[in-house]
Amino acid sequence: MVTTPADSITANATYEPVIGLEVHVQLLTATKIFCSCSTRFGAPPNTNVCPVCLGMPGALPVLNKKVVEFATLAAMALQCRINETSIFARKNYFYPDLPKGYQISQYDKPLAEFGFIEIPSGGGKKKIGITRVHLEEDAGKSLHEGFPDAAEKTAIDLNRTGVPLIEIVSEPDIASPDEAYEYLTRLKEIILYTGVSDCNMEEGSLRCDANVSVRPRGQKEFGTKAEIKNVNSFRFIREALEYEIGRQIDVIESGGKITQETRLYNANEGKTYSMRSKEQAHDYRYFSEPDLLPLVVDEKWKAEITKALPELPEARRARMVKDYGITEYDAQVLTFSKSLADQFEEAAKAAKNPKRVANLVQSELMGRLKAKGIGIEHSPISMKGVAASADLVEACTISGKMLKDLYDLCFERGKDFPVVYEAAGRPQQSTDTSALEKMIDEVLAANPKQLEQYRAGKTTMLGFFVGQVMKASKGQASPQLVNELLAKKLA
Ligand code: ADP
Ligand code: MG
Ligand code: ZN
Repeated sequence: MVTTPADSITANATYEPVIGLEVHVQLLTATKIFCSCSTRFGAPPNTNVCPVCLGMPGALPVLNKKVVEFATLAAMALQCRINETSIFARKNYFYPDLPKGYQISQYDKPLAEFGFIEIPSGGGKKKIGITRVHLEEDAGKSLHEGFPDAAEKTAIDLNRTGVPLIEIVSEPDIASPDEAYEYLTRLKEIILYTGVSDCNMEEGSLRCDANVSVRPRGQKEFGTKAEIKNVNSFRFIREALEYEIGRQIDVIESGGKITQETRLYNANEGKTYSMRSKEQAHDYRYFSEPDLLPLVVDEKWKAEITKALPELPEARRARMVKDYGITEYDAQVLTFSKSLADQFEEAAKAAKNPKRVANLVQSELMGRLKAKGIGIEHSPISMKGVAASADLVEACTISGKMLKDLYDLCFERGKDFPVVYEAAGRPQQSTDTSALEKMIDEVLAANPKQLEQYRAGKTTMLGFFVGQVMKASKGQASPQLVNELLAKKLA
């Protein structure tokens, strides 16, 4: 439950929120940004370290080429302009987990600028500007629990120092907590499609700081902003923003002033708390990093990197709607991940009727997955399996009922459709007319009352007879054929 201050509404007729997000994404390189130490998560503390990332005097950084390629790829996917020359800068501050006393980042000449992400908004689409994408190294980690004497001491793990990050800074174009949520969802989806990060929030591969202010509707100037730090899920960011907007409106309404500050969100209470004010804010004393040359990403290298740029989710959805005659919603579900979309397209191309494949995913697969709490990427029935089953229905070899039963079996046994279909002896719906006619005769003979009603003009009884025959055939009969034969018999 989110507790919002009494009497406040997050966005009301009088005030509107202004939001800008700063997102850190860890790049999936095997080694760190300026040394050859491993970036592996979960290694014993202080084992992935060397003189460079420990900040030993005289140790020199050497830029990891793969980091530049991944960062450039991400920036391209975010529609940014890549600056041919960018400059590394030192961001100076003291913190126990920052052995050098500074972080190597980029400041006034970042790797990329002027991008955007499109989000759905009010039935249409809205562009959220991306100010910049820059490269930086991560700091270490202070541990306050999980070791002896934890209550009194802080331990430092420096495995993280020098892990490559990109920071993606948005323009203050986001107008509500819902838009912030959408922006983050799209951003993550795009980054995942490029494959440069796993965006795993639990492991800290994606982190978001949210800047928010409110202003009277219609006013041009921004209000004073607060920055909410280290919120660890998109849902919590939305909640933190809702709370913070309400709080700011309350402060202003009661005659107070917003102070520029950094705040922390307590997810249990649903409230933000002041961490430090502007007076205590860091003065980073940025200056160009003397140990690194300017970074040059020239046209030739850019062209090389572009080759790795996949079709992005938004464009892909539009194309899939066109290519397979599926709905926007189908496309949304089927592009949940790049691998799922790849599988679907492979299956859809192989299947006789792509639309039927999409329908089966929606109607038969998703429900079963949901009931079992399985993600579609772990589905026992693969997209190939769905395609195979779709073809059998398309060819009238199996009925819808048979397909449902076979899908149930797949989930029971954790096996793919072709395997289960084979094991069941490749069942076919009965198209044996003489056997069906016999069943029809038996059903009619066993239900004289219903037959009488039918003859007296109650034609809806036909449905009853079809049902009885289907039951007698144990779902094996083709409903279409049963209908035809019954109609003939009764005529
Ligand atoms: P800082 O120097 O405090 O980091 P920046 O100008 O770099 O501030 O902006 C950081 C983030 O805050 C950006 O995402 C930007 O869009 C957002 N931002 C800037 N001003 C405001 C404001 N008044 N209200 C809400 N967000 C803002
Ligand atoms: Mg900032
Ligand atoms: Zn190192």
